[in-house]
Amino acid sequence: MPTDLILKNASVITMDAAKPRAELVAVFDDSIFYVGDNAELERLTGRSTKVIDCAGRTVVPGFNDAHLHLFSFVRKLLSIDLSPAWVRSVEDIKEAVRKKAQATPPGGWISGTDYNEFYLEGGRVPTRRDLDEVAPNHAVVLSHRSLHECVLNSAALELAGINADTPEPPGARIERDLDTGEPNGILINMLDYIRGKVMPPVSDAEMAEGVGLADEYSLSHGITSFQEATISNDLARWEKICALKLNYDLHSRITMMAGAPYWQEFKEKGLKTGYGDNLIQLGAAKIMPELQPEQSEMERLALECHKAGFQLAFHAVDEETVAAVITALEYVNKHSAVTGRRHRIEHCGECPPALMERIKKLGAVIVTQPPFIYYSGERYLATVPKSQLPWLYRIKSPLEAGIVVAGSSDTPVVPADPMLGIYAAVTRQAENGQVILPEEGITAEQALALYTVNAAYTSFEEKTKGTIAPGKLADMVVLSGDPTHVSPEKIKDIKVEMTIISGEVVWED
Ligand SMILES: [Zn+2]
Repeated sequence: MPTDLILKNASVITMDAAKPRAELVAVFDDSIFYVGDNAELERLTGRSTKVIDCAGRTVVPGFNDAHLHLFSFVRKLLSIDLSPAWVRSVEDIKEAVRKKAQATPPGGWISGTDYNEFYLEGGRVPTRRDLDEVAPNHAVVLSHRSLHECVLNSAALELAGINADTPEPPGARIERDLDTGEPNGILINMLDYIRGKVMPPVSDAEMAEGVGLADEYSLSHGITSFQEATISNDLARWEKICALKLNYDLHSRITMMAGAPYWQEFKEKGLKTGYGDNLIQLGAAKIMPELQPEQSEMERLALECHKAGFQLAFHAVDEETVAAVITALEYVNKHSAVTGRRHRIEHCGECPPALMERIKKLGAVIVTQPPFIYYSGERYLATVPKSQLPWLYRIKSPLEAGIVVAGSSDTPVVPADPMLGIYAAVTRQAENGQVILPEEGITAEQALALYTVNAAYTSFEEKTKGTIAPGKLADMVVLSGDPTHVSPEKIKDIKVEMTIISGEVVWED
């Protein structure tokens, strides 16, 4: 029986309990046909079979980033990256903006993302004057990591019509010079307004460039599937993302959540969780508790979405919010006989034992972000109250309780890099070496499961992906090392060397 693609001499970690390790994988069409020994090579090879000699390298199932934001990611890729990996002071930021200004035609917009005063020298953030110095002929807008704050230079403030006479907009704040009342460039809760109403929209050419960069980034990190979790995903966004998938090189399989406020739009078209195919499908209804501050309102929305056929995905970080969404899920359970929806709690940043017990009872799943431990661990240790620290981004406890936990990056919040997430889930180490709750560290196999089988479970796809087994989609990653055999410290040095989707090599180092 000749097959289309064979990986031989591989050290395959299948994530399939029935056959955990193998040497050879054969693919027919877009699916895995055989998993076993090198001895089968001849029987499976025909004239048109492509054979890849893995020379002992490790092969794992393709990674699935269970929660990210594609359009913000694209915008970030088109912007200057001001995260702590690149800048550590206002001077660094000015230098980066100066460089971008040199490469951008005068009169154009320059945007930068992810500055974070916690990591900036003296805790100082740039003001309009700093930006005017280095980019007097461009409109500049820089966004804070939290997206709650941004800084504009004078040209951008002028285009936004913000000056000394502008009154404070409701729910927002314009920071001002105390003597003159002149805005100093820092705006609170106005980024959406600036991006949506003042900046020109991302052009088709920029979108093509940004999607290409996002695709390249995802594939080079082994991401063969991702789940888009943006609250503003309405029906038009669904159509847009389907068109992107069709017309652009966007290789990874996509599950797009629907913003819960738009559930009726989807329902009217007969769309609900699971609609689509294995390239792009509709996922859960995303609920942001901040948008439904009344518990009863959130419960009503949750029940409506549930009854309309949606899995639910609640954004919940702090303990109070985690408790509120669990209560909402219990309400849904009480008022509907439908079970098995695998409702999701996104982040679940603080989860003490009593709440964990209730999650378990509900059969809900947790979608966590191990890279937060790496990128924000230092900040958590410095700012999270002592009483909450023992419950911070726990992974081992829920797994031991039998709760399904999936891994993700929430990119662009942190880079979409599953290997780094696996490293952080095993070591619980922050970038500066501090360790956060070492007792919550898991094995490398368990960490691989977060980004493969468990992530597939959260989107009802465990029958088609997440393991390397006959019949599964041929989505695989070749790694430079075996995360289950190297010392934990070395996991973060393991590189993705090849990414395969539907039996096609879509990326190679
Ligand atoms: Zn998110």
